[in-house]
Amino acid sequence: MSSPSQKSLHDLSFSELADALIAGGVSPHHAKSLWRSLHREGEVSLTDKNFVTPLKRWIQESVGEGKTFFLDAPEVVDEIRSSDGLTRKFLLRLRDGQVIETVLMGYDGRHTVCVSTQAGCAMGCVFCATGQMGFVRHLRPGEIVAQVLHARRILKTIDPKKRLRNMVLMGMGEPLHNYDSVMQALGTISDVRGASIGPSKIAISTVGVVPSILRLAEEAQPYRLAVSLHGSTEEERSALVPASKRWSLEMLIDACRKYGEITGKRIFFEWTLIAGKNDSPETAKRLVELLKGIDAHVNLIPLNPTGGFAGVQSDSGHEFQRILREGGFPCTFRQRRGIDVAAGCGMLKAEKRERGVTC
Ligand code: SAH
Ligand code: SF4
Repeated sequence: MSSPSQKSLHDLSFSELADALIAGGVSPHHAKSLWRSLHREGEVSLTDKNFVTPLKRWIQESVGEGKTFFLDAPEVVDEIRSSDGLTRKFLLRLRDGQVIETVLMGYDGRHTVCVSTQAGCAMGCVFCATGQMGFVRHLRPGEIVAQVLHARRILKTIDPKKRLRNMVLMGMGEPLHNYDSVMQALGTISDVRGASIGPSKIAISTVGVVPSILRLAEEAQPYRLAVSLHGSTEEERSALVPASKRWSLEMLIDACRKYGEITGKRIFFEWTLIAGKNDSPETAKRLVELLKGIDAHVNLIPLNPTGGFAGVQSDSGHEFQRILREGGFPCTFRQRRGIDVAAGCGMLKAEKRERGVTC
């Protein structure tokens, strides 16, 4: 465990790292080689030939248990692989014992990491295993960055020639409820001197935290936006997504419209199909009306069953998709290959808890 005065080196932005070196009497020019080790190589070694002696001394004096800084290196508690071996889901234990999920997905020669942004989630979506756990705490930037570094290391062992180029914030937690840490982490992850995942290859998925959607647009954040909608009327949506009582469907659609106008970017709408709840042709038609004028792509997600929700998968997905497409919207099913393991966020952790495995 770290003392409250200790800070993770992975939490720092490049300029904060340079400042930390200056404070320790080291030239900020050496921030580049340390940053490279932290975020590109994924390991800091005193034998690194790019490290000058003052930098090595600073690391020895300042980084480690009981010192000013520590490194975020979550421990792998469990791993499951998809039947095709291309998708791997990791249960990672953080320094305070909290356990989160990270998924490395591979399909069509592309690799994507799905990261968590919180331990648990405060939004309480009824069908979501993470929502059923409740909120524990926000993740620090370094804890988000460390998930990407872990996925990069694993990918290297699978195929050293492949690079991790895509990232989705669709693991445990609501990214826009942890805005500042998420933005700091994404700045680090997209930095070309580090993991260098292009901002346009990073998708933030939100349940619809309206003020933060507008903030993304006002700040011209370069990432992609996915909005989890799941309902075409206030009643339909708030039965599944309690956060809709705080930020109504009307407010959310208005914010999406503004986001589109300001940024000129397409929004991806996520829709988990649940039999009898949100899968009827009438719902699909209402959705077409609701999204009119927005540059929208609808992503249909088959429901993954969870212990705390009695709903069942819909078999009307193709009809739903047909109506959306006829209404003029691109509509696809979420890529399923290898996702037998990825399932819904929070499911591996929930499953272990049911089996009585303490993490
Ligand atoms: N909090 C964010 C991101 C994490 S959830 C959000 O809600 O968007 C990522 C996606 O997985 C969301 O679209 C969510 O609705 C969906 N999801 C969660 N649990 C699911 C389940 N059991 N079956 C299918 N989709 C699920
Ligand atoms: Fe939270 Fe997203 Fe799960 Fe809803 S679906 S409870 S917002 S993680």
